[in-house]
Amino acid sequence: MARRKIIAGNWKMNMTPSEAKALVETLKDLVNNPEVDVVYCVPAIDIVPVVEAVKGTNVEVGAENMYIEEKGAYTGEIAPAMIVDAGAKYVIIGHSERREYFKETDEFLNKKVLKAFEHGLTPILCCGESLEQREAGVTLDWIRLQIKSDLQNVTAEQAASMVIAYEPIWAIGTGKTATTEQAEEVCKAIRETICEIYDEATAESIRIQYGGSMNAKNCDELLAQPDIDGGLIGGASLKPDFGRIVNYVK
Ligand code: PEP
Repeated sequence: MARRKIIAGNWKMNMTPSEAKALVETLKDLVNNPEVDVVYCVPAIDIVPVVEAVKGTNVEVGAENMYIEEKGAYTGEIAPAMIVDAGAKYVIIGHSERREYFKETDEFLNKKVLKAFEHGLTPILCCGESLEQREAGVTLDWIRLQIKSDLQNVTAEQAASMVIAYEPIWAIGTGKTATTEQAEEVCKAIRETICEIYDEATAESIRIQYGGSMNAKNCDELLAQPDIDGGLIGGASLKPDFGRIVNYVK
């Protein structure tokens, strides 16, 4: 069975609650494509208003991060149960900005992935290489290592239901997109890694996104690749362009 495409916006640290509601309204008609899963991953404070604002549409909501504990003395953190109760279904885990600025390690991210599943949230697990790694020719080895570390103790059934976003760090927010061949090569290698860890059925079922300066101009070609099942979109998710990506041309 063909995998359903999933186009997710990563709003990052943008949009106050009132701006968020206005953006959902602006995008409402533009993101209406019943053939595609559409997700807005939004700052924690925007989850409640955005869940309310997308009611009755095809859009689901995700968090951009969550903590690994259930509750307690972790000032400033967001518990998985809070995200679920607020009405979100997805959570981004291991975005390169969190890995870099907040020093999140693969060991820690593995705990987050397991915790997300415990609460019925679908993780969008990010991986990706730096420019130095690409130039040194170690991209595929690095990505395999990230995936294997982040998926420790994740069952095949869980893995089959999740989303992995391949996001080359050098392409995020830079306007430099990976070439279609580069993006497909890594997404294919991720699927092969899933097959190695689990089995063919799991590899066929898991959805793999490309992320990194995907926009209205380059989305059609990227989304036509056999191993690219969607996109994780930063900058363009805050603009009407996002609607064009959701309605990519096959
Ligand atoms: C991202 O932050 O996940 C991302 C892909 O950003 P951009 O689309 O702006 O490169």
